[in-house]
Amino acid sequence: MASIKNDRRDFIKFSTLGILGLTLGGGIAISPYALQAEMRLRPPGAVSEDEFLALCIKCGQCLQVCPYHSIKLADFAKGHGIGTPYIDARERGCYACSAVPCVLACPSGALDHACEKPEDIKMGIAVLEFPNKCIAMTNTPVPKGHSQRIHNFVNEQRNITQLELDMLDKLDGFEGKQCTLCADMCPIPSPLGAISMIQASNGKKPEIYEGCIGCGVCEEVCPANEPAIVVKPRLTYEDYYIKGIKS
Ligand code: SF4
Ligand code: SF4
Ligand code: SF4
Repeated sequence: MASIKNDRRDFIKFSTLGILGLTLGGGIAISPYALQAEMRLRPPGAVSEDEFLALCIKCGQCLQVCPYHSIKLADFAKGHGIGTPYIDARERGCYACSAVPCVLACPSGALDHACEKPEDIKMGIAVLEFPNKCIAMTNTPVPKGHSQRIHNFVNEQRNITQLELDMLDKLDGFEGKQCTLCADMCPIPSPLGAISMIQASNGKKPEIYEGCIGCGVCEEVCPANEPAIVVKPRLTYEDYYIKGIKS
């Protein structure tokens, strides 16, 4: 509940600043932010972007029920779709809850109720975008304090859940080991084949498979300063890895 209040406060703050900016600028200029249709990671079950923007009533029900605080409301500075829910994967990915409560909570059809279980989720596709930043490829152990950023995020929430505490415990266990964080924190069980570590020339590296749902957890937990692995919103495995569509 605190999270939705914070998001709504930010939303109002940025909206006000945005409107003020337009007014001071003569009231006729449209902010470049408003014109920039930034591709966002939408919550599970999101219909196509055009339909999503038309259907979402910005009620915030999806983020209220998320036990991981994964969903935020877009503010003015983030551009298109002001007030619509999105996921900032580097801050907090989606942990693919078994009953997908965010979808169940959506009253408008913006999140399609046909998305009933984790394997139905298709938010995007993970990509090892910056292999030179992947510490597993140079056999560098996971550094001390790698999870501090994520602890800080959780500590900022006023209604921390047991699921979040369990996730932090698991995360802390990787310190000093060879990095397999993206593969081992992935919420999709391995038989479904989302990601695994494979041999690389000087160490190991993650390989993405068709079962990846684009939840963004790998991007969140990657211990590199800038994530080596990122999620491309709205793209499928076929789009990126077979057809070569990159964005
Ligand atoms: S599936 Fe769970 S973790 Fe993911 S956005 Fe929905 S409620 Fe949050
Ligand atoms: S590889 Fe796993 S953690 Fe990464 S986006 Fe895909 S499903 Fe999520
Ligand atoms: S989380 Fe994955 S991509 Fe990031 S450094 Fe570790 S093995 Fe590499």
